[in-house]
Amino acid sequence: MIEKPRSGWRVAPNMPAYEEARASFSWAAAEHELAGLPGDKGLNIAHEAVDRHCLEGRGGRQALRWLGRHGERKVITYAELSARTNRFAQLLAGLGIRPGERVFSLLGRIPELYIAALGTLKHRAVFCPLFSAFGPEPIRARMKIGDARVLVTTSALYRKKVAALRDALPDLKHVLLVEGGGEPGTEDLQALLARASDAYEIGATSPEDMALLHFTSGTTGTPKGAIHVHQAVLSHHVTGALALDFHPGDIFWCTADPGWVTGTSYGIISPLTHGLTCVVDEADFDAERWYRILQDERVTVWYTAPTAVRMLMKAGDELPRRFDLGALRLIASVGEPLNPEAVLWGQRALGLPIHDNWWQTETGGIMVANYASMDIKPGSMGRPLPGVVAAIVRRLEDGSVEQVDEPDREGELALRPGWPSMFRGYLHEEERYRKCFAKGWYLTGDLARRDKDGYFWFVGRADDVIKSMGHLIGPFEVESALLEHPAVAEAGVIGRPEPVIGELVKAFVSLKEGFTPGEALRRELLAHARTRLGAVVAPKELEFVPTLPRTRSGKIMRRLLKARELGLPEGDTSTLEAPA
Ligand code: ATP
Ligand code: MG
Repeated sequence: MIEKPRSGWRVAPNMPAYEEARASFSWAAAEHELAGLPGDKGLNIAHEAVDRHCLEGRGGRQALRWLGRHGERKVITYAELSARTNRFAQLLAGLGIRPGERVFSLLGRIPELYIAALGTLKHRAVFCPLFSAFGPEPIRARMKIGDARVLVTTSALYRKKVAALRDALPDLKHVLLVEGGGEPGTEDLQALLARASDAYEIGATSPEDMALLHFTSGTTGTPKGAIHVHQAVLSHHVTGALALDFHPGDIFWCTADPGWVTGTSYGIISPLTHGLTCVVDEADFDAERWYRILQDERVTVWYTAPTAVRMLMKAGDELPRRFDLGALRLIASVGEPLNPEAVLWGQRALGLPIHDNWWQTETGGIMVANYASMDIKPGSMGRPLPGVVAAIVRRLEDGSVEQVDEPDREGELALRPGWPSMFRGYLHEEERYRKCFAKGWYLTGDLARRDKDGYFWFVGRADDVIKSMGHLIGPFEVESALLEHPAVAEAGVIGRPEPVIGELVKAFVSLKEGFTPGEALRRELLAHARTRLGAVVAPKELEFVPTLPRTRSGKIMRRLLKARELGLPEGDTSTLEAPA
């Protein structure tokens, strides 16, 4: 347990006492923190994120601090962001794009991505970001499902990945290229922006109007297009305050790419609704670069992912000591289970524990979290956000579910719908959406348990859990034990069908630099796991691999490890990071 101080904070947390906040919270009351569109015209994400700050005299604040791959630096204030997003909205209007139609982006982390996102929301069209490293097929499939009308991209990405798809996408009316370039069938974004006016009045927006379309990571199968509405901004705002502890003047860095929901909900919307300064780094992961950014930009709140934390751990404890990370106040992580070892490493190497939190593309915002003021049990995802009701349920044979009330019993993590950023459907997949609900619960597909103190512990995705000798084994627990060994950089654990015991626990392990695979080390790791976990849960087999297959958002794809182990078809690999 990592205990938090009860007083004497450098900056007092927004939520000093979890229980009290939970008891008194209501979404209706929280709504008063949002501005709403002037003239009672509803609720629009872009107004909350950008224009309200200008109206309230904060236009001169830095909204985005963009760090280019090669050392360039551009600062965009709220006033500039407002004018530039107005132009983008105006441009869409000029092209005849109607509210509700989908605008896709296929861009690296450049300012135009942020402008397109917010400009689209101003125009009440629906923004759908695609991760720029996707290949042509995942791009085509997502644009098809999403009925893409407009695509904003670069000439290079267009030539390489989209040009050949145009015939397959007859409804894609406009392709706007960031630097022009005169490709046939495209338009020059800058020229159009230059012609557009920078005055734009956001039209009446219902909180239930569709705002964002986000595809899931595809970790467990074909990605789904989750629909989010403008009302989601209330969750984004509240979770920014309660889970990420945003305070005025914070410099916030979310390392996730806006091609994934984290990079939009928290890389764009949530911090901007709080009027913060967001650091945007165009470059890919590099341990030294990242520490330098934390130091030079004086980042106060940092939101990252377990895969990045593991890579930083791999780079060693000495490296962070060379940097002044003294501005940092809170570090949080999402996307995968955060191994207890990683939480403790943060405390040791960065001077702060890492706060794990749990949510999904479908939930649109943070649902379960370790809060700034709350003691951390390393390995736990924390406790449900005030305003969110979470439970552990068991599926029954008749398709319904029952709640599991005893502490420490495993079951599926379920949430009571009603928070603002709950997805409103999977686009064109009504049946798949319907199947997520039973007895008034939204079933997350993740297995977890709740301890007697109300902390939730992730066990594994329902699809990844291993059934061995009558026991249910969560891969996370086994991977975490392996990760405690100094040689292990990453571990992925699966169940291999075995007639007698059901499934046999098998681990795939990649090693840190300086360690070489070999029989002696293999035995040592198996023995280490047995000591930590006991014979039933410990892996029986262990294979060394150079890297583990991961989604492009950095999640270990256990289903792929399993398919490969069994020689089965690999299924949807559209989000697989190459090479695996
Ligand atoms: P798909 O649904 O297409 O298989 P995905 O579930 O990986 O992909 P996302 O919505 O990006 O797509 O990820 C949400 C999932 O990530 C959660 O359901 C959970 O399995 C995992 N996850 C996220 N945060 C955590 C966390 N803190 N601890 C454990 N697991 C987490
Ligand atoms: Mg999922």
